[in-house]
Amino acid sequence: VVDGERLGLSLDETSTQADVETLWALFAAGQALPDFAALAASTQATIPAALVRQSPILSHPVFNRYHSETELMRYLRKLADKDLALDRTMIPLGSCTMKLNAASEMIPVTWAEFGALHPFAPAEQSAGYQQLTDELEAMLCAATGYDSISLQPNAGSQGEYAGLLAIRAYHQSRGDDRRDICLIPSSAHGTNPATAQMAGMRVVVTACDARGNVDIEDLRAKAIEHRDHLAALMITYPSTHGVFEEGIREICGIIHDHGGQVYIDGANMNAMVGLCAPGKFGGDVSHLNLHKTFCIPHGGGGPGVGPIGVKSHLAPFLPGHAHMARKEGAVCAAPFGSASILPITWMYIRMMGGAGLKRASQLAILNANYISRRLEEHYPVLYTGSNGLVAHECILDLRPLKDSSGISVDDVAKRLIDFGFHAPTMSFPVAGTLMIEPTESESKEELDRFCDAMIRIREEIRAVENGTLDKDDNPLKNAPHTAAELVGEWSHPYSREQAVYP
Ligand SMILES: *Cc1c(COP(=O)(O)O)cnc(C)c1O
Repeated sequence: VVDGERLGLSLDETSTQADVETLWALFAAGQALPDFAALAASTQATIPAALVRQSPILSHPVFNRYHSETELMRYLRKLADKDLALDRTMIPLGSCTMKLNAASEMIPVTWAEFGALHPFAPAEQSAGYQQLTDELEAMLCAATGYDSISLQPNAGSQGEYAGLLAIRAYHQSRGDDRRDICLIPSSAHGTNPATAQMAGMRVVVTACDARGNVDIEDLRAKAIEHRDHLAALMITYPSTHGVFEEGIREICGIIHDHGGQVYIDGANMNAMVGLCAPGKFGGDVSHLNLHKTFCIPHGGGGPGVGPIGVKSHLAPFLPGHAHMARKEGAVCAAPFGSASILPITWMYIRMMGGAGLKRASQLAILNANYISRRLEEHYPVLYTGSNGLVAHECILDLRPLKDSSGISVDDVAKRLIDFGFHAPTMSFPVAGTLMIEPTESESKEELDRFCDAMIRIREEIRAVENGTLDKDDNPLKNAPHTAAELVGEWSHPYSREQAVYP
């Protein structure tokens, strides 16, 4: 309502001129209607002429090939058949947390009430969304031990960026604007140093010890050396080496003692929810990956949500937006980022409950340790804690096999496809290794199926080592074996059965 006499309506590109005429006729109550064609002709296009598209769009045949539902259904099925997704096999991608995206979590996303609201809809028209975001923020505060949450960042990496901007703004608000050094352990995820650079900080890398833990003495020395310029530490817990870093409280204390803020990368939250909270053991700010820990599907690249949690002293520096109370510091176009997928996380947390979430973390850790124990006599586990345990993922060291047999991580990953598995993460964070994260979603049967495949693959590698299988023409080097190979001419020294149906 514009005033006592005037009413305004906003329509989008899905409304036609006929819709406008119908609406107008309703309000006109029988009075003469304007000449719509003339009005449309006199209206100025808001897209500048230079920006109007000239080239043809959607010209690939696929956009004009499928006209019946039957055909479209078969086309989609054909695409799905090409994909090795969670509906066929575990995807044990370390650091990625490829867990179940339950149907009941996903269904609300299809509701127009969540999916068709404009991100800038006036607050009085989006009260339900407000309730959703308020409740979700409260639940994520409870899970992380932080005081405030921003749901705006669209990815973990964007959360890192928002978090470092908050740290920078905090230092500046105290007149501490010389603080621009960001310490990052060498085990960090690649996004950490990239983010620090983007936030205008200088990266100083700190060492790890032989067990994969942060070298605390090196960290202390660098914190002291840079104490006048220390802005932040970015650290991942449990570490990207898949271990609960025992010195984490001491590490956070060292940074605070020298004027820095602690950014705890929360991508590994799947090992912590209900068990411990970054806001309680020394973190000032963390991002979460709702598309890892909190069930938003992310095979194929998104969309994601990377909210950040902060302690109260950083809350004034969370991302703002032109449509929010705090106007400054937006990190993406919409005030609540990828808001339409937040119902997935809300459903997950509400259906699991506190006790369920804790049990999920315990099972994720148990599953990783089960795999680590079953496979360690076949492939050395690179890093474990002082009790011999891993966190929610484990790194298998395949480098010695490369020397003894010429078989690489790539060959093992390809061979796993013949066994019907998606490969684990390769060569991250250590080149020549596989990082396996089973998550709580996998049953013991599926874990055993995976371990059995890995053990069979180790036997094949042994056959290469002792010369039973040819050094170059073997099932590992030639994997994956396709249907075309199965029916084609066969020239390998091993059988089709061994190749295709291991
Ligand atoms: C996935 C991940 C990130 C980045 O998150 P994105 O959502 O992919 O941007 C950062 N740190 C760690 C340890 C991660 O595993």
